[in-house]
Amino acid sequence: MTDTMTPEQRHRCMSRIGSKGTKPELAVRRWLWGHGYRYRLNVKSVPGRPDIVMRPYRTAIFVNGCFWHGHEGCKAFKTPQSNTAFWEAKIARNRLRDRQNYDILHRNGWNVVVVWECQLTTKRLEQTMRRVELVLNQNMLSRYTKQKPQAYAVSGSTAPVAAEGGQF
Ligand SMILES: [Zn+2]
Repeated sequence: MTDTMTPEQRHRCMSRIGSKGTKPELAVRRWLWGHGYRYRLNVKSVPGRPDIVMRPYRTAIFVNGCFWHGHEGCKAFKTPQSNTAFWEAKIARNRLRDRQNYDILHRNGWNVVVVWECQLTTKRLEQTMRRVELVLNQNMLSRYTKQKPQAYAVSGSTAPVAAEGGQF
């Protein structure tokens, strides 16, 4: 994936443990890159340090693991049988922090797109990314029509991207 990074980004990546990107994140990046989209990774100046930042679209993308970020109603998200209280508290904290980050981004004029790990299986990747692409294009348009940034992924709950479309 080195071809997706400038030397500066690569340096930043290598100097930060865990920032090389998870497998689901790589799948999103590969798709975007392959479809001509360009982006930055882990931009520190953007609140919440989103996984993927697309400035021309004023869009921050988070690729969330279903367990750690507590994907509600998801098969991949089950609280472990042992240490249940510990895990519940931990995941609740993560979710709270996520929501706070999304709020800060919205207040700063950013659109937020959350893509869940379970939406990026081989079977679902293409459909998921087409939805993301649609949102990106809407975001681009809204910049020129001076609409307020939208909370596509986070309105009211942890509903996935384009939740109004139902199954994703
Ligand atoms: Zn999930």
